[in-house]
Amino acid sequence: MNPRGPYRGRFAPSPTGPLHAGSLVAALASWLDARAHRGTWVVRIEDVDTPRCVPGADRLILEQLATCGLVSDEAVLHQSQRGAHYQAALDALAEHGDVYPCACSRKDIEAALLARGITRERHHSAVYPGTCRPEHGGLQGKPARAWRFEVGHVGRLHWFDRRLGAQQQNVATEVGDFVLKRADGLWAYQLAVVVDDAAQGITHVVRGEDLADNTARQILLQRALGLPTPLYLHTPLVLGNNGEKLSKQNGAQALDLGEPLAALERAARALGLPPATRGATVAQALAHWTAAWDA
Ligand code: GLU
Repeated sequence: MNPRGPYRGRFAPSPTGPLHAGSLVAALASWLDARAHRGTWVVRIEDVDTPRCVPGADRLILEQLATCGLVSDEAVLHQSQRGAHYQAALDALAEHGDVYPCACSRKDIEAALLARGITRERHHSAVYPGTCRPEHGGLQGKPARAWRFEVGHVGRLHWFDRRLGAQQQNVATEVGDFVLKRADGLWAYQLAVVVDDAAQGITHVVRGEDLADNTARQILLQRALGLPTPLYLHTPLVLGNNGEKLSKQNGAQALDLGEPLAALERAARALGLPPATRGATVAQALAHWTAAWDA
């Protein structure tokens, strides 16, 4: 028995477009892992970043999943409906002094980094220099734009991935104090995902390897909020013809689900699973891969 309780997994797509071959790999892997553990699998629509969301993409994704035989065991949650929960988490963090308001624009951050001799090349994923930290004087009369999590001096954070093995990141030096509520008032992915994984009792997170880099930040947030840390498994990425990761951003084709089995076969192959038997139905293929899944 898992010490975290009965297995609960999720697939959490952002509705920025239809599913593509890459996202189907994560969807299939999370579904198979849940089934192989005789667990529950839920779909959560991560529509917090409203400017990037495409109207109707959530419905389309759910239809595409259903065509592939992947149907949420419970009602589908939309993050756009959960602002009050994210606010409550931010309030709790504020009460413990784990967050602070920040007045910096991107330009301010670049200027502050430049003043320290950190040039663009070296800070391509700009580590926030901590200008608005309370210990540095806070907002100093400037209007608050965003809320940041104060990483503090955690040093290296170690975590384990079921596929990638031992992982580590120094969040303070590699990421810095990260944003939980954006200057445009939108909730950041890091906070929403941590709050919802806990609210939904998720014990196992299975998602694409491109998200692995967020895990240390999410574990820090879980600890600060007194929430459990799920087990993590990051799935291999599907590469496009140019060798780059396939994503909605670089124009990955929406899945043609006239032939769901062919799409599932490709996803299964990416996961190192054996081919389905000839003439199998979608349900038979899924059962075959569940049996082959090494949970
Ligand atoms: N919504 C995120 C995405 O589509 C996935 C979040 C997660 O699985 O943690 O990239």
